[in-house]
Amino acid sequence: LTFLGIESSCDDSAAAVVRGDRAILASVVAGQTALHADFGGVVPEIAARAHAERLDLCVEEALAQAGLRLPDLDGIAVTAGPGLIGGVLSGVMLAKGLAAGSGLPLVGVNHLAGHALTPRLTDGVPFPYLMLLVSGGHCQFLRVDGPQDFTRLGGTIDDAPGEAFDKAAKLLGLPQPGGPSVEAAARAGDPRRFALPRPLLDRPGCDLSFSGLKTAVLRQRDDLVAAQGGLHEQDRADLCAGFQAAVAEVLAEKTRRALALTPAPVLAVAGGVAANETLRAALQRVAAEAGATFLAPPLRLCTDNAAMIAWAGIEAYQAGRRDGMELAARPRWPLDQKAAPMLGAGK
Ligand code: ATP
Ligand code: FE
Repeated sequence: LTFLGIESSCDDSAAAVVRGDRAILASVVAGQTALHADFGGVVPEIAARAHAERLDLCVEEALAQAGLRLPDLDGIAVTAGPGLIGGVLSGVMLAKGLAAGSGLPLVGVNHLAGHALTPRLTDGVPFPYLMLLVSGGHCQFLRVDGPQDFTRLGGTIDDAPGEAFDKAAKLLGLPQPGGPSVEAAARAGDPRRFALPRPLLDRPGCDLSFSGLKTAVLRQRDDLVAAQGGLHEQDRADLCAGFQAAVAEVLAEKTRRALALTPAPVLAVAGGVAANETLRAALQRVAAEAGATFLAPPLRLCTDNAAMIAWAGIEAYQAGRRDGMELAARPRWPLDQKAAPMLGAGK
């Protein structure tokens, strides 16, 4: 089986060609960071227009890199949600057009399922496993029992960790994306100098919260500015180190609980925040304690990409999933159908 994957749910336009034997024949990602740089966040209208302009070029490029033409493929997988609706629509419309023109089967993929199934694409991990998804827009623990069988064990009740890193960086005058700049600054810092909270650790379960942590950084910054007229290099480093340590500690403790709740042989991560070395080290320790293997796919497959969408499409197709021209773009689409009904503007 060979599938084309199309992804456009946030600020990356992406297309990929992936085979059922896990070979990635092509994976093209056209980011939009520069387009949104002046606005301090992703502007949905700009994102939608950029996807509409670039997606078909990404598809052409992916097919060219794979050395294949549309009729050589077995199916088309597209992110049908959740995400910014204009972008998701661009992808779904393009996929429908390609499917209608070629007669290929169409499979709508949940973006989060794409992230959650990535360890199977990169490492052939068998079910079940525990997935911690930590990105700019998402944070949740999923037990993955099958290609369409996800159980949500908990997640953030406010900000995603990547969002918190980005906001903390902004508060401290560090460049975006915040994750890498906070991590770099933290290298010279003392994580114990500032007492930052460990949100929700006192409460049972696997839910997380990050917005209070960001507010705590804001307070410490304002106190320093009031006391000494500004931030010294060392203050910044210490605040970054303290913030990063708090995020890692909270995520590690909640992961410990998730593994206790549902023992799994593998703990896998996905999402851009999985790049963070302090977090990785903490998760590695927790996994080892629980007797689980820790698995972090290569970063280009941890962040948004279309290879994961093509792969999730292949897995869903093999499980019998087919979508027609009525496939809807969904702004919201919880993965765990058992825990929550399908919401949003879809069907
Ligand atoms: P989503 O995938 O949820 O739609 P997104 O596209 O914003 O959202 P990703 O591309 O997976 O998410 O990841 C980007 C996020 O990861 C940013 O918030 C960025 O700050 C964060 N990030 C990247 N590198 C690091 C790092 N080394 N440490 C912490 N955070 C990081
Ligand atoms: Fe994503």
